[in-house]
Amino acid sequence: MTQFETVIGLEIHAELSTKTKLFCSCDNDSFNKEPNINVCPICMGFPGMLPVTNADALQKAITTSLAISCNISQKSKFDRKNYFYPDLPSGYQISQYDEPIGLEGFIEITIGDKIKKIKIIRLHLENDAGKLSHTSGSTLLDFNRAGTPLVEIVSYPDISNAEEAKIYAENIQKILRYCGSSDADMEKGMMRFDASVSIRPVGESKLYPRAEIKNLNSFRSLETAINYESQRQIDLWENGEPLKGDMTVGWDEESNTTKILRDKESAADYRYFPEPDLPPLSISEQLIDECRKTLPELPMARQKKFIEKYGLNMSEAIFYTEDKTIADYFEDLAVKSGNPSLANSFLGSILIKKLYDAKIEIQKSPISSENLAELIKLIDSGMISNNIAKTEVLDEMFISGKNPNNIVKEKSLSQISDISELEDLCKKIISENNKIVDDIKGGQSKAIGALVGAVIKASKGKANPKIVNDILNKLLLE
Ligand code: ZN
Ligand code: MN
Repeated sequence: MTQFETVIGLEIHAELSTKTKLFCSCDNDSFNKEPNINVCPICMGFPGMLPVTNADALQKAITTSLAISCNISQKSKFDRKNYFYPDLPSGYQISQYDEPIGLEGFIEITIGDKIKKIKIIRLHLENDAGKLSHTSGSTLLDFNRAGTPLVEIVSYPDISNAEEAKIYAENIQKILRYCGSSDADMEKGMMRFDASVSIRPVGESKLYPRAEIKNLNSFRSLETAINYESQRQIDLWENGEPLKGDMTVGWDEESNTTKILRDKESAADYRYFPEPDLPPLSISEQLIDECRKTLPELPMARQKKFIEKYGLNMSEAIFYTEDKTIADYFEDLAVKSGNPSLANSFLGSILIKKLYDAKIEIQKSPISSENLAELIKLIDSGMISNNIAKTEVLDEMFISGKNPNNIVKEKSLSQISDISELEDLCKKIISENNKIVDDIKGGQSKAIGALVGAVIKASKGKANPKIVNDILNKLLLE
């Protein structure tokens, strides 16, 4: 029986987080607002309206293109993409056809412990349409979103399965957020996917007709839809009726199936022509440099650095770089404390959980990275034990936001390092544990650990374990 492989290319649309819309001065933030209040003659497509390109949207598109390693076209232009739909009042979308802003990029994604490169064809700028809400018997129209700037990022068909598609899309989301281009919040519809899916017998390199699944708006539906569509095509092929031409399908969330909408439209169907109301864009080297300067260190670079420089494992590195603020916090803590391993354990196993339970975002953490670094230094210098830090100091820091040095002083938590005080305590424990002492003297030197434990317990955790160990050795074995 023929073995098949799936071939996937993704188009990702993301709304840019600009203050105003792409071609007019309407407010671009309509979350929780009344329908149809952020509109004007331009974004409503009235006759005679004149669009003006939003400079911030252009800069965000350039910055994003750079972040996905695209070449920036110095000459770019807008084109009209003509089609009729009720959410598109002008009857055409202003998009970019043959001269997009970014060309030929790529990103790297981590699959298990391997890194895979996904090539990107292009990034272009276009405006969003309004929103349709279908209710029983009627359709409601909200044009607040009409004219919102979108970047569309089109990948090569380099993706081989649903899981890879999801990881690729998650990485694009992270990149958009790192460079401040888009909040890319899926639940608010700020990022949507179209997935082109085809199959071919393993070993072949030609591409067979594809089905483009439109408007997937969650990572889950992206995965489920690709799996469904690829199996549907395999079944058709095995029944002797493989796809004859490209087609457009919709994803039905209710039935978890794809539904055939239409034959895939080709570029000619849209009658693209240069947008006559907007001058072509000429993008200067200077502007490109300015955008490049705003680029932060990107998630994949950071992920690699966290592994190589701070000794994290892959899943820890992925976890911290998921969100730029968490990555910043970790790096700050690792550098300031000088102990990346303790930084990882205090942030990853304790603080993040505390913040999560208290529903506090890391930006508002009552424990600053400076203070947590201080706490780690107190442990490293032997001033307090790891245990005391976790059980006594950290909680107090979380509640009061105080500096750990002050807490240690106020609660007199510092370890007992005074030799004579510890010697007295050791002698007392020795006199109470004849059996263990005999074992130690009889050659079982490991049993000394039990005495160290007893001394620390008697000191309520404040005895410095290293000094206690030295004293016991001296008293018993020398
Ligand atoms: Zn407007
Ligand atoms: Mn598009």
